[in-house]
Amino acid sequence: MSGNQMQMVNAFDTAQAEKLPETERALIDRRARLLGPAYRLFYEKPVHVVRAKGVWLYGPEGEAYLDVYNNVASVGHCHPAVVEAVSHQMGVLNTHTRYVTDGVLDYAEALLATMPAEIGHVMFTCTGSEANDLALRVARHHTGAEGLIVTETAYHGVTSVLAEASPSLGPNMPKSPLVRLVPPPAAAGGDRAAVGAAFAGGVQRAIEDFAAHGIRPAALLVDTIFSSDGVRADPAGFLAEAVETIHAAGGLFIADEVQPGFGRTGAGMWGFARHGILPDLVTMGKPMGNGYPVAGMAARPEILTAFGRDLRYFNTFGGNPVAAAAGLAVLGVIREEGLIANAARVGALLKSGMEEAARRFPVIGGVRGAGLFVGADIIEEGKPSAARAARIVNGLRERRVLISASGPAGNVLKIRPPLPFSAENAAYFLEQMTAVLRTL
Ligand code: PMP
Repeated sequence: MSGNQMQMVNAFDTAQAEKLPETERALIDRRARLLGPAYRLFYEKPVHVVRAKGVWLYGPEGEAYLDVYNNVASVGHCHPAVVEAVSHQMGVLNTHTRYVTDGVLDYAEALLATMPAEIGHVMFTCTGSEANDLALRVARHHTGAEGLIVTETAYHGVTSVLAEASPSLGPNMPKSPLVRLVPPPAAAGGDRAAVGAAFAGGVQRAIEDFAAHGIRPAALLVDTIFSSDGVRADPAGFLAEAVETIHAAGGLFIADEVQPGFGRTGAGMWGFARHGILPDLVTMGKPMGNGYPVAGMAARPEILTAFGRDLRYFNTFGGNPVAAAAGLAVLGVIREEGLIANAARVGALLKSGMEEAARRFPVIGGVRGAGLFVGADIIEEGKPSAARAARIVNGLRERRVLISASGPAGNVLKIRPPLPFSAENAAYFLEQMTAVLRTL
């Protein structure tokens, strides 16, 4: 990899551009010229797409790619119910939350109904980053403290404070004196009490280190499926002790549901609920509007009291009537199409299929996940192998099947299709995966 490509798993290496066919090279050159050097494309041979439907993305010649990666188009690409809701509302009214509008209230009511009764308010943003940024501001205001605890390979967003709390951006990202990193939950799963105690122990050590530096903790912020840490879902319930630990130190627990939220785990709407915990703040994004930028932060009302009294909040596009229509349509599709049950059923097929592959191909060191979020460790001589993971990811891409990789060593296959993924889609994916594994 060339220097500027170092910090992302599965990044296209621009130094390899001359190997591409002329039309693709021209597009990639144009992109670099217009968008500048900070963006990264996926894959050794980037994928050019022009339209999508359901679980399929299509290239310029009509070639179909099976989407086993995207969690934004979570109810399926270009779902007609969402398209219709957004198009209709765009032609009726689109304005901001300083006027009284009905849509945002209907949506807030429907969204809060999916959460524990203690979570009584929801505020809207346009991105997951904005939701996390707001949650951090609220947590700091409520606690009067500043410290933030996240996991070692976390990703929480693009703002200045969140980039400093997103170690998955790599070693070139400056560290913040107000952030402490804790080891993620054990990859191997195992006993719930032991996994919970080990994770909470890391949180306790971070709190003690803050104290040694005269800092009090405002919050523990975690992605409740630990995506960028390499997918850590089991044993469900292991988060409870860490929540108690942060509470005992006066800090809040923020559940980042940008990845597991909206039914992905197959065990209900929310990743935190699978752990049987009650967060103080919940942040949401990606799948929330099925591609329309909708995100938000839900809260226990008492946490918002001081912030609402002392400050005010306005997000120009957040909670606009079109965003609310998109969000409401997504909730309707999840319910009407039984997508949570589908995530559980097809997710189990995907996971058991990968476990079966692990028995046949020793390159797979372990398989984890919940619902339609499956991670598989790729190893070589017992050690994590990002190179082999990249060969699998790119081998599948050649077969027009899209996945990616994540984790601290970049060796965890990230298998995370849209929620309407069918048993037939899963069987096709596993067939293609097996074919690629045979070539290693
Ligand atoms: N939190 C998590 C766990 C995420 O995965 C992401 C996006 N990858 C974000 C927050 C930030 O969301 P956005 O890109 O919408 O700002």
